[in-house]
Order: sequence, then structure tokens, then C-alpha cells
Amino acid sequence: MAVTAATPPRSVTILGSTGSVGTQTIDLIERYPQDYKIEALTAASRVDLLVEQARRLKPRFVAIADPGKHNELKAALADLPIEVAAGPQSLIEAAERPADFVMASIVGAAGLAPTLAAVRRGIAVGLANKECLVCAGELFNAEVRKHGATLLPVDSEHNAIFQVFDFKRTETIEKLILTASGGPFRTKTLAEMKAATPAQAVAHPNWSMGAKISVDSATMMNKGLELIEAHHLFDIPENRIDILVHPQSIIHSMVSYVDSSVLAQLGTPDMRTPIAYSLAWPTRITTPTLRLDLAQIGKLTFEAPDIERFPSLNLAREALRKGGSAPTVLNAANEIGVSKFLEGSIGFLDIAGVVAETLAQLPLKSPANLDDVVNIDQEARKRAETIAARFSR
Ligand code: NAD
Ligand code: MG
Repeated sequence: MAVTAATPPRSVTILGSTGSVGTQTIDLIERYPQDYKIEALTAASRVDLLVEQARRLKPRFVAIADPGKHNELKAALADLPIEVAAGPQSLIEAAERPADFVMASIVGAAGLAPTLAAVRRGIAVGLANKECLVCAGELFNAEVRKHGATLLPVDSEHNAIFQVFDFKRTETIEKLILTASGGPFRTKTLAEMKAATPAQAVAHPNWSMGAKISVDSATMMNKGLELIEAHHLFDIPENRIDILVHPQSIIHSMVSYVDSSVLAQLGTPDMRTPIAYSLAWPTRITTPTLRLDLAQIGKLTFEAPDIERFPSLNLAREALRKGGSAPTVLNAANEIGVSKFLEGSIGFLDIAGVVAETLAQLPLKSPANLDDVVNIDQEARKRAETIAARFSR
């Protein structure tokens, strides 16, 4: 990945401002009113929170994905000089506005088109939305290179690696070591996992996050997606990216070098640290994050991941090895599996079942362009829906 120097960004657009990453980005920006101003905010459908944010931050543009919420949003902001738009195209419009920095924090492949629109402006993009990189991989990277954009990883593991990765001497890098908390079911039996409810699955031990990534952490598909994300961000092959369970989430990831040195980035688990890093890059800003007190923590522990109870790890590894359409299908089927589980129509272990079956049923293709990726994603979603209906209880 190309890393270019830039002056600290000032004007900021947040795609997905009402989510977990979006609201934490706003929390930081509000601490530096002189240094940041907001160009655009977007949300899927939460008018109340979007309006509250717009009233406080006075962006020039707000967009809501749900076209049915257009009038309500317009009416609520009628007294302010803010442009209001709705529908999927309005998210792209938001990304195309003249901001110095875009935080890509929409969840899922729904974030692909707006994130690409930001990339095409050749600016610094904070990438939280890992699914868009998993789904479009090489084609997404080609757009980054073509337009001279800078991807700043917001995902804590990738942000950690970014901080200790020697971009000038990549030949000296032996391995990436992605750490994983192991999620809420790290010590549960398969029988307990089979009976797991959505409420249990979203109750993450260390991080407070949106529902989809919380379920992904419980299945450990999150680490599988992050494996693919790391491959695309750092151009390291799959067999040189290890996954290590580290339940305290203090070491956020590591890079191991040919001389056997291992460099790590540490900190208390608080997304505001990697978000601040991307917002302030290439400098740093002070965060309210709790400082690390290792004497008080006392012990950091590590274990190998259990691939029997967390089959998603191997599904993701295999999809990355196969390449082509496989990661796109993996991601799409997982999004369907997670939403069916959250709706209560399939069981927790069925999520990986839906992904495995969708991957097995669809032929491997080689997407030549981004339209092909979108078509493969759509086809995989349809197939996963059919498969999930069979798992239905
Ligand atoms: P979230 O569900 O809390 O928020 C998602 C945001 O995207 C919301 O603003 C929502 O309105 C918007 N959105 C959802 N669906 C949309 C759609 N179809 N069209 C347009 N907008 C839509 O999610 P989150 O936890 O903030 O995660 C956002 C992304 O960041 C995900 O890709 C996740 O994997 C990644 N991430 C999150 C965390 C975290 O701590 N939350 C950590 C690392 C990476
Ligand atoms: Mg992560």
C-alpha cells in the first residue's frame, strides 16, 4: 500500500456517523473544535441521532440511505443552512464532497460504493469498513493506487500493524500476527454455542461495538475478515499472517521481522486510539483513552485459536487462498448469516454453515471489474438467503 505524507486533515466527512465508530469519531472531533470541521454526515435510517449530530456539528451536507426518511430529515433541519439528501446515491454524493479526510465507517458491503467515491478523490481515508476491502480486494486497491489515496487502517489490529510496519523495508518483514480477543464464546463448549442467543453473542468482553461486528467477533469471522483485510492492506501472503488469541486485548497486533524482532502496538481497548491516529495522521492527538497500567493488569495471556469451534477462521483463510470471487461470496454469505441469526431465524453455529454452503455451491469466478464484484455479491446474498431458509428453525 502506498503511504504518502499529507498535512493533517481538517475538513472531515463521516460515512456512518450514527454507528459505534462514527459516534466515537465525533466524540474526538468535538474535543478539537478549532482543528476539525465537518463537511458531511451520513446514516442508514436513524433520523433522531443524525439530526442531533447535525445540529451540534453544523455540517454542510447530511445524507440518509433510507429514502423514506427524506422528508422527516429535511423538516427537522429546515432552519439550518444544511443540504439534505436521501437514498443510496446521496451517500456517494456525501463521499464526493470536498473533505480532507473521510471516515469510512458504514458496516458491510453497503459501504463499498461510498468508500470508493472517497478513494477516488485521492484523499486520506480512514478505513473502518473492512467488508468493502474483503469484498472488492485487488480492485479496491487498484482504485487506491490509481487515485493516489491514502488508506489509514482504523481497525485496531491493522492500525497497530500500520504503526510498526516498516514500509520502506518490507523484505525484512517475516510475519504479521493478528491478535484476537476470542470473543464472548472463547471458553464455551460447542453445545453452549449452539444454543447461544443474539444477546449473548453481542456481549463482547472487551469492546463495545455495532451488532454485526460483535456477532462476527463471537464466531471469529471478524478475525477471518481481518486476515483478508491485512493481506490487502499490507500485501503479505496468507501463509505469513498468523492469528493469536489474546483475551485481554492489550497487544493490538504485531509484526515479526527477519532478525526475530517482534514489534507490537499496545494500549487499553478503546477504538478512540486508532480513530485518533487516523484523524491526526501523520501526527498524533491526545485522547481521553484510559492509560495502560501493565502492573495493574499483571498478566497478558495467549493461546492458539480453536478451529473446531470457530470454523469461520478456516473458511476465510481458504477463501483468501482461492482468491477471485471467494472472499466476496464469503463476506456476502456472512452478512446474510449474521442478519438471520440476529433476527432469530437461524442458530449461532448455522452462520458458519450458511457461509460454508454458499461457498461450496457457487462456482469460483474472477471478477474483472467492480460491477462484477457487485453482481457476485448480489448472487451470493440470494443463494445464502435460500440456504439460510433451510437452516430455519
Ligand atoms: P454500527 O452498526 O454501529 O454502525 C454502522 C453505521 O453505518 C451506522 O451509522 C449506520 O447508520 C450505517 N449503515 C448501516 N447500514 C447501512 C447501509 N446499508 N447504508 C448506509 N449506511 C449504513 O457499526 P460499527 O460497529 O460502527 O462498525 C462500522 C464498521 O467499522 C464495520 O465495518 C466494522 O467491522 C468496523 N469496525 C468497527 C469497530 C467498532 O469498534 N465498532 C472496530 C473495528 C472495525
Ligand atoms: Mg479489529
